[in-house]
Amino acid sequence: MPRYFNVKKEVIIMELDSLSSLEKREILFTDIKNAIEVEWINTFKLPNDDAVTRSVLTMSDIDSAEARLRRFAPLIKMLFPETIDAKGIIESPLVEVPDLKKALNSEKIGANLSGRLYVKLDSELPIAGSVKARGGIYEVLKHTEEIAVKSGIIDSYEDDYCKLASPAARAFFATQKIQTGSTGNLGLSIGITGAAIGYEAIVHMSAEAAQWKKELLRRNGVNVVEYDSDYTEAVANGRAESANDPNSYFVDDENSTDLFLGYAVAAKRLKKQLRQQEVTVDKNHPLFVYIPCGVGGAPGGITFGLRQFLGDDVHCFFVEPTQSPCMLLGIVTGLYNNISVQDIGLSGKTYADGLAVGRPSVFVGDFIKPFLSGIITVKDKRLFEYMRLLWNTEKIFAEPSACAAVHGAYCWNHSEEMQNYIYDNHLNRHMENATHIIWATGGSLVPDKIRQEMLEKKV
Ligand SMILES: *Cc1c(COP(=O)(O)O)cnc(C)c1O
Repeated sequence: MPRYFNVKKEVIIMELDSLSSLEKREILFTDIKNAIEVEWINTFKLPNDDAVTRSVLTMSDIDSAEARLRRFAPLIKMLFPETIDAKGIIESPLVEVPDLKKALNSEKIGANLSGRLYVKLDSELPIAGSVKARGGIYEVLKHTEEIAVKSGIIDSYEDDYCKLASPAARAFFATQKIQTGSTGNLGLSIGITGAAIGYEAIVHMSAEAAQWKKELLRRNGVNVVEYDSDYTEAVANGRAESANDPNSYFVDDENSTDLFLGYAVAAKRLKKQLRQQEVTVDKNHPLFVYIPCGVGGAPGGITFGLRQFLGDDVHCFFVEPTQSPCMLLGIVTGLYNNISVQDIGLSGKTYADGLAVGRPSVFVGDFIKPFLSGIITVKDKRLFEYMRLLWNTEKIFAEPSACAAVHGAYCWNHSEEMQNYIYDNHLNRHMENATHIIWATGGSLVPDKIRQEMLEKKV
């Protein structure tokens, strides 16, 4: 059992500290450095009213993002026939997973989880097969709307957005570029959507990006630029290249409030799904949500949205790999994107390619602090065990990054920190009534052969 120091006091000191004296911070920092699994309870969390008052983004920002997605629904339906049944709305099911719960609670695993367990199947999101179908597509559409209004292709937000698929509109978009830097999934989302609208789409792919993702993009007419280096460099290069071209727009995963708001819309829709499934969320019925974290845009946006729509009764935890806990490191040191996991000797390498990020987003760390319950880290070895568990019990396939979220459900019974969270928040009498959601952030586009390899993988 790792030792933990008094996080509250130490973290405040750490915030004031420089990188060099960080070396002296023991326990938590040492555990992070040694790639030991930790469960960090966020001492900066605030009650919802206070958190919301301080926030520069608001509920009405989420509402207007949702309205924008509705304006585009007729076009989405036209460009992506797989969304016809959902009327052009890109959304995923929420499913209860009693057999997974039973397996997690088996003697061997010993999660001892009470309440109901659900999986949010963003792995099944249309078009991009991952959570990136939320933020990524949203930002492409927002940019498209802006330049379409400016160039007169549509004359207002009330216009018929199917005009955006006319030959004249497509000829215009062909003169415009859309670019992004990605470890894989954001590239799929931006590339596929951008190319479908008619843009010249360019995706700067870091070394860990899977070959099949590059091939899929090329089949969709996307220009894939490959790098031998990590994500940060792929993004930096793409950003610089795009900045030199007035007809180019760069979707910047390291610093984008548009992506963030696209993700946040999920929360509004989840609230509705919970109501439809008669899941109560209130003081006596807490909701726990576990979301895998890379740069933090997706889990940050979803967490921000959930706190806006469900208030203090929702408790959101990020999950990061032990080799790339960039958000945890950024927040506990107070250095955010000014420190990388490589700076403290971690490799940043993980089979969870969507989370293989050395540095968090520029703004998410600081922004999300008052809303977030905690961050836990997980070893790669477990990701494949969780993957098999999810597959064998529920026939749900999720990619390694997504499987990190299962660790949230596992942790309660194995962590003093998590147990303390229950008592400190007076939740002990309500855990029987709790709902847990594992946010399965990706998987459906993984080709069968690679799925099979992953399901058999031992790390
Ligand atoms: C990108 C991604 C995440 C994390 O999203 P961030 O915005 O990078 O934090 C989680 N899971 C999957 C499958 C992803 O592709």
